[in-house]
Amino acid sequence: MKTDYFKLTFSSLPINESFARSSVGVFALRLNPSISEISDIKTAVSEAVTNSIVHGYPDSVGEIVLEGYTEDDALHINVFDEGVGIENVSEALEPFYTTKSDDERSGMGFTIMKSFMDDIKVVSEKGNGTKVYMLKKLGIDAK
Ligand code: ATP
Ligand code: MG
Repeated sequence: MKTDYFKLTFSSLPINESFARSSVGVFALRLNPSISEISDIKTAVSEAVTNSIVHGYPDSVGEIVLEGYTEDDALHINVFDEGVGIENVSEALEPFYTTKSDDERSGMGFTIMKSFMDDIKVVSEKGNGTKVYMLKKLGIDAK
């Protein structure tokens, strides 16, 4: 059962990427993370939230839910949107895969999330929003 958690709901405006990033960084402090662990978590959250803002709601402003909870020495972070969804999730998870190559996108967001977190799961389908579940185990690095 989750006893130590938070849940934030915010609009998909670009300004809220830094709000999400900072909020998670502060929440994570209770697990006494190293500087590099904090930085990994914040980077992964930025990527997931940016994806919801840019891809989930390309032409509108929608709702993003960010939630986190602790489980022993691990931090779970989930990012949900109710946007356009992803047609082929395994393709989207591939390095350099992007549907916005004309923009400044490089297709590395999910790859960054995978490499900076210990586990990531993406549940999405076209028209039905996207759910990203991430896990970071703390205390593995020497502090
Ligand atoms: P970068 O993150 O390097 O700027 P990117 O966002 O295109 O580029 P990824 O973050 O790896 O790369 O995402 C890959 C693709 O998955 C995106 O191009 C987009 O098509 C799709 N995608 C990712 N997140 C979402 C989302 N929340 N809603 C809809 N589509 C998404
Ligand atoms: Mg991205």
